[in-house]
Amino acid sequence: MVTLSTDCYVPTHCSRCVRAFLAPLRAGADVNCSICGGLAQVVPGEVYRAEDAVLFAQVEAAFDSVGLPLAETFRIVAELGNVLERTHSPYTLLLRLLRPVPGLRFLEPTHPGEEERLVRGMGMLLAIAAARVQQRAEMP
Ligand SMILES: [Zn+2]
Repeated sequence: MVTLSTDCYVPTHCSRCVRAFLAPLRAGADVNCSICGGLAQVVPGEVYRAEDAVLFAQVEAAFDSVGLPLAETFRIVAELGNVLERTHSPYTLLLRLLRPVPGLRFLEPTHPGEEERLVRGMGMLLAIAAARVQQRAEMP
């Protein structure tokens, strides 16, 4: 049996304003968008902690600011879906992603130990981009 803790945060996306954010995981409870108050849905994927919310919001803002076409967003999902590369050579992956999403440059590790933040940021970007693809596919 899996015990749900309030310490678990999951990527969530809003069906009204299309933004994504980290929300606490609560079984059976509706989640409302932190931006517009609309009903939001959990994106299947990795689980985070409360202190990751700032990083998640930064990655989301960088992604949202460029307004990528669906085909390009889909390509990013495919690229980030390569778990091996995402965890073993995240910097190579970041360099490729900086072309479509230049705002991700803040993830570039400048001190030892920051590579872990980069890997986490890449996982967040995957959840954000996947939610966007899924939402566009559901539109009439
Ligand atoms: Zn919203």
